Amino acid sequence: MPDNQSYHMSPAEFRKLGHEMVDWIARYMTQVEEYPVLSQVKPGDVRAQLPDHAPEQGESFDSMLRDVQQIIMPGITHWQSPNFFAYFPANVSGPSILGEMLSASLGVQGMLWTTSPACSELETHVLDWLVEMLDLPAHFKSDSTGGGVIQHTASDATLCALLAARERTTNFQTNHTGVTQKFIAYTSTQVHSSMEKAMRIAGLGSDNLRLIEVDENFAMKPAALQTAVEADRAAGHTPCFVCATVGTTSSNAMDPLGEIGPIAEKENLWLHVDAAMSGTAALCPEFRFIHDGLEYADSYCFNPHKWMFTNFDCDCFYTRDRAALIRTLSVLPEYLRNQATESGAVIDYRDWHIPLGRRFRALKLWFVIRHYGVQGLRHHIREHVQLAQEFASWVEADPAFELAAPVPLNLVCFRHVAGDAMNQHIMETLNTSGKLFFTHTKLNDKFALRFAIGQLNTQRKHVVRAWELIKEVSTQSRGL
Ligand SMILES: *Cc1c(COP(=O)(O)O)cnc(C)c1O
Repeated sequence: MPDNQSYHMSPAEFRKLGHEMVDWIARYMTQVEEYPVLSQVKPGDVRAQLPDHAPEQGESFDSMLRDVQQIIMPGITHWQSPNFFAYFPANVSGPSILGEMLSASLGVQGMLWTTSPACSELETHVLDWLVEMLDLPAHFKSDSTGGGVIQHTASDATLCALLAARERTTNFQTNHTGVTQKFIAYTSTQVHSSMEKAMRIAGLGSDNLRLIEVDENFAMKPAALQTAVEADRAAGHTPCFVCATVGTTSSNAMDPLGEIGPIAEKENLWLHVDAAMSGTAALCPEFRFIHDGLEYADSYCFNPHKWMFTNFDCDCFYTRDRAALIRTLSVLPEYLRNQATESGAVIDYRDWHIPLGRRFRALKLWFVIRHYGVQGLRHHIREHVQLAQEFASWVEADPAFELAAPVPLNLVCFRHVAGDAMNQHIMETLNTSGKLFFTHTKLNDKFALRFAIGQLNTQRKHVVRAWELIKEVSTQSRGL
């Protein structure tokens, strides 16, 4: 190989292919509605079309794009379709994609302030903006004892909170000596699976997670929490943590923070509040009731990567006691020592999460907030909530259907009164039709359809059509 030979893509080539890629993306945005929402491929279909071995010689970008169209696209479930009502929204938006592109281009590793000051400072700044935007307690701001950080996911946020709680409870000794006490954490029966996973990863054990019973609205019963804590203390265990949820995954239930908070305070439990999807609603003053009592929380998280038009991954995690978090996670080897860190004047975000390296994720969040403005974000959140409330009113007005849980925001849990077989049939028929996609849960041991409205492209006509289709399938299937 001659010395000057290069296999790299030149900036000129990149410019040309980059334009093609952007054209492809813009076309996808206009055509996403035409694809079946739920991918129709069978297990192994995608791999069967891929070559067994990596190419020896480089290939053209054209051939890659062709394979994307022919092999990859049929294997995509279209989370960006306006007819996507499953799980929770996982939105992307123009400004967010552009921010991600810029972040990829700069290729910054933001582990320390000094490894890219803008990466840390923009993150701190945008997270402070969000404290105001959501009207969160001032102790989550960086000019207090607390502050915010972008985590990959709500699962990571819960794990970090749990670790900090464990350390604070033992005056930061278990990190050094290992777990000897039996630490107990509390949450409701409706909690997200990430809480149990965090117990396992933290070495505290799934069995030491107490699932507190819920009321008829699927919200945690504070009196039952109090009783459980007392029982554990009496047994000689160490209660250390409670996770409350604002908008449970199953049914969007809101745990009563205002009653859980005083118990956590009295019992010296770290209170973590998980508002992964629903936190975004607090952009609108009329939905801030979901955060009543949040002033008691030691930590809080919500996911702009769900409902705030910012592509995965982007979870905003706040703590009121950043010293506890940093003492828990900081290990400083010689090769990372630097003057800025020693001066104490900067934030090194490597000490605020599990990995060392970190991407420049604040860029996309900054672009999204600046593109929409608070007003623009509010407008779309209100639209989604309004549509969900309307959908719920149709369910209530139809004697063949019933609501399965209250509908505080944008998630409607409902069922056909004929029972589980009918509901399962409606869901499977429509999901395999590709016309729309929604999922299910179980509430009080009964199958319930789960209809989440929050996809960026969803308009009223999509919700109207979905309800028409649901009714149509149920009428055709009478007798099930
Ligand atoms: C979606 C969700 C999670 C998990 O979110 P990740 O960011 O994927 O970890 C956790 N808790 C609640 C309440 C959720 O809705």
